[in-house]
Amino acid sequence: MTDYLFTPATAQAVPIRGKSELFPINRLFFVGRNYHAHAQEMGKPVDKSQERPFYFTKAPQTLVHSGATIAYPSETNNFHFEMEMVVAIGNKGFRVAQDKAHELIYGYGAGLDMTRRDLQLVARDKGRPWDLGKDVEQSSVCSEIVPMQGHIIDSGAIALEVNGQTKQSSDVNKLIWNVREIIADLSLFYHLQAGDLIYTGTPEGVGPVVSGDKITGRVAGVADISLKIGPAE
Ligand code: MN
Repeated sequence: MTDYLFTPATAQAVPIRGKSELFPINRLFFVGRNYHAHAQEMGKPVDKSQERPFYFTKAPQTLVHSGATIAYPSETNNFHFEMEMVVAIGNKGFRVAQDKAHELIYGYGAGLDMTRRDLQLVARDKGRPWDLGKDVEQSSVCSEIVPMQGHIIDSGAIALEVNGQTKQSSDVNKLIWNVREIIADLSLFYHLQAGDLIYTGTPEGVGPVVSGDKITGRVAGVADISLKIGPAE
């Protein structure tokens, strides 16, 4: 048995509906600007005929379970919600063809890509990395994973409320790059493997939360999610 200088961090994991085992997390991938109305509200419209999707990652240590209360993060005055459908990868694949993409899918979840919007936009506009805006501690919220092995979801309502008031309401059939296209494209860059989660992007209506707010959301036919924003540390 290997001796470590100190106890290694425990693996991040999320529950699986109907199972006692947990789904262990390998990597967290996020698709940027994957709904036209959201790309437009960010001032960066997408022309699919001219562009490829792009991605950013967050450390697995940013994972938070649905139902948690998180601290309002440091160094921001504009902490935003982004409601997203999450694809849970269950089988490895590299340079996967679109018509084989379903073979990598273990299931789906509902996710929140919480964002320091002020810092993300400063980074974007100065040509700097997005990490301080996106790779925020406690910012990758995920519901239980719902097993749907080999199943492609290409439609279904996606919605989010803050304190019961609707802020985001769309349909995953409005994804610019759909689940097959995302898996095929992302697998050109990364050897996808079991435990990878892909947050597929947020529809329009993103906005700020403050301490005391409660977020609720769902991907119809998949799962619900909730999050409370606690006081700043
Ligand atoms: Mn996002």
